[in-house]
Amino acid sequence: MPEEPESDVPVEAATPTSVDEPYRVLEVAPRTPTIVELWLRPLADPLRYRPGEYVLLEDAEHEVAPRSYSVANAPRADGLISLLVTRVRGGQASTWVHERLRTGQTVAITGPYGTFVDDPARTAPAVYLAGGSGLAPIRALAEAALSGARRSLTLIFSARTEADVLDRERFAAWEARSARFRYVRTLTREHGEPPRGRIPILLASLVGTLADHDVFVAGAPGFVRACAAAAEACGAPRERVRTEVFFGEPEPWTDTFPQVRGKT
Ligand SMILES: Cc1cc2nc3c(=O)[nH]c(=O)nc-3n(C[C@H](O)[C@H](O)[C@H](O)COP(=O)(O)OP(=O)(O)OC[C@H]3O[C@@H](n4cnc5c(N)ncnc54)[C@H](O)[C@@H]3O)c2cc1C
Repeated sequence: MPEEPESDVPVEAATPTSVDEPYRVLEVAPRTPTIVELWLRPLADPLRYRPGEYVLLEDAEHEVAPRSYSVANAPRADGLISLLVTRVRGGQASTWVHERLRTGQTVAITGPYGTFVDDPARTAPAVYLAGGSGLAPIRALAEAALSGARRSLTLIFSARTEADVLDRERFAAWEARSARFRYVRTLTREHGEPPRGRIPILLASLVGTLADHDVFVAGAPGFVRACAAAAEACGAPRERVRTEVFFGEPEPWTDTFPQVRGKT
């Protein structure tokens, strides 16, 4: 994994969309039994993006369906971006990433997209809730906020087992670097050091009231829905609960698109 930069690069106000920018794969690193982390180097103009945004990833030959992946790091001077890709059973793009993508290959990146971004000037405390590869945009946002104005940053990561916990060492280093940053992991399917259990159940005991907080939640649809509801139950105003849902692409020729059924 490339070293973290010493200082953050100023975030561009405007982020024009780049299409099909070639990136070289620097590293394909298995991080958990189901998630690989990609590090990509720009071969042309680096993407200009804001922390929290996502890109479309494709193979250079355009043989694999393009899919959305959140950039998992704050912008860096060298333009490197990282993605956290969960393997989806039978999934086209994630299977290609896990089984066929190798260091040295070229991929195409289009983007950036999304509205799951922060205002770097905000001072309100922030709570970040992530499950699985939902950590990607959360990690980018929290990394940028480390050198921002927020009074405190609490990142709570939900994993099934200890083997599914991402970035323990990275976040320990962030805690050592900044007294404003706190990292908590919880396990949902395995005994281990507390806390254990799902974030929606634990949230009040971990953070107390969220009345003056900004909350960011990312991950699978059910996780995001439950965490957002729990944050509101802890007092977070709805307009200050920001969410990024990792929905899958709808499959054509099914009930999703009844109007085109039978036209194959
Ligand atoms: C804004 C946004 C950001 C995203 N960021 C990330 C990210 O950072 N990391 C990441 O791993 N994914 C992310 N995703 C999800 C990603 O775009 C793909 O949907 C996912 O990788 C599956 O693509 P696939 O081609 O492998 O599967 P497909 O071939 O599209 O799907 C195969 C089957 O799996 C189902 N399926 C699709 N996605 C999922 C899923 N997530 N869980 C369970 N079943 C599913 C489909 O309905 C289908 O039946 C994001 C999605 C969005 C909308």
